[in-house]
Amino acid sequence: MGSNKRKDELRKGVNTRVIHHKDNFSEETGSIMPPIFPTSTFVHGNECGFDYTRSGNPNFRILESVLSELEECQFACVFSSGVAAITAIVSSLKAGDLILCEENLYGCTVRLFEQVFHRFGLKSIWIDFTDSNVQEVISNHNPAMIWIESPTNPLLKIIDIEKICDLANKMKIPVVVDNTFATPILQRPLKLGATLSLTSTTKYINGHSDALGGAVCTESLEWRDKLNFSQKALGLNPSPFDCWLITRGIKTLPLRLERQINNASKIANQLADNPLIKSVIYPFRNDHPQCKLAKRQMTLGGAIITATLDANQTQTYSFCKSLRFFKMAESLGGIESLVCHPATMTHASVSKETKEKIGITDSLLRFSVGCEDFEDLISDLYQALEILS
Ligand SMILES: *Cc1c(COP(=O)(O)O)cnc(C)c1O
Repeated sequence: MGSNKRKDELRKGVNTRVIHHKDNFSEETGSIMPPIFPTSTFVHGNECGFDYTRSGNPNFRILESVLSELEECQFACVFSSGVAAITAIVSSLKAGDLILCEENLYGCTVRLFEQVFHRFGLKSIWIDFTDSNVQEVISNHNPAMIWIESPTNPLLKIIDIEKICDLANKMKIPVVVDNTFATPILQRPLKLGATLSLTSTTKYINGHSDALGGAVCTESLEWRDKLNFSQKALGLNPSPFDCWLITRGIKTLPLRLERQINNASKIANQLADNPLIKSVIYPFRNDHPQCKLAKRQMTLGGAIITATLDANQTQTYSFCKSLRFFKMAESLGGIESLVCHPATMTHASVSKETKEKIGITDSLLRFSVGCEDFEDLISDLYQALEILS
C-alpha cells in the first residue's frame, strides 16, 4: 500500500479500524462478514499467491491485516498460539546465541527457552530490566536478542520499553516485547523502538476464551520473511477457523477493554481499602512503584489486578473457591472474570526459591477482570472475603 493510502487508513479511529478492515474477501459477494476458507491447498498459480495453508490462507491474511492496522505497523504474522509465535522468533536464532531476558517473563516462555531451546545450544540469561545498570549488563553480555514483557505476569512490573530499545538499537540488538497484557490499544512497542511486538491473541485480542492464537507485528521486511519462513517450516500456522474467530473477536476489543479497565480500576481501589487485603498491585495506582512510567508508556492501567490476601494458602484457596463470578482458571483477557493462584497454577513449575525471590507467595492472586457489572463483581469479592474474617 502506498504511504498516503496507509496514512488515510490510519486516520480512522481505532474502533472503526478493527470493524472496517480491508482485505475481507467479501466485496464480490456483499457479505458483511468474511468467509472461512477451510482448505488445505490452492490451485497452482492463483492470483492471490496462496499455495498450501501451512504457509498462508486468506483467513490468516485477513487477521494479519486487521492486526497490523491495530498496531499501526507494516507487517503481522499469525501463529497457532502465543507459544508458537515465541517459537517462530526464537527459531531464527542459532546455537551459541544468547537471549537476555527479563527475569519475570511468562512461565511458558521460560520453560521453552530453558527446557527446549537450551538443548539446541541457545543460551538465556535472566535479569531485572528495572535495574539502573542495565546498559552495562547489555554491553557485557552482548546478546543476540533482548526479550522483555510489560506489564509482567503476575506482578505487573513495568519495564521502560523506550529506554531498553534505545540502548539495544544503538548496539543493533533486536528487542522483542511480549505485549499480551497491554494489547496494542494501551501500548505500542514498535513505536517505542521494539523490533518485534508479540501477542498471545488467545487473551484480550480474541477475548472470548474460545480460540488459541499468537501474532508478531513488525516494521521490518526481513523479520516478516523470517516469521513467514518459521510459520511454514516449523508448522506453526493457525487454523483458518481460529483466525476467523479471532478476527470476529477483535472487532469488540476496544469496547471490551474500556469496560474491563473501568471495572478493574474501581475494584483495585476498593480492594486496596479493605483490611483483609495486604496489598494491591495495579499499574495506574499511585502506590505502584513504576506508576509514573506506566502512565507515560500506557494509555490506561489495564484489566489485571494482583493482590495479596492476609491469609495462608488454604484460606487463599477457599477464598478463590467461594467466588461465584471469578472462576478459578488459567488464562486471562476474556469477557468473563477469572482468578488465578500463580504459586500453584501458572508458576507451579517454578522452583520455591525462584518464586520467593520474585515475590510469588502462597497468598498472591491474579484477577483478570471481565465485562460483568461492577456491582456484581465487587459483591462477589466481598462475600468471598467474609470467609477470611
Ligand atoms: C498466554 C501468554 C502467552 C502464551 O500464549 P498461548 O496462546 O497460551 O500459547 C505468552 N505470553 C503471555 C504474556 C501470555 O499471557
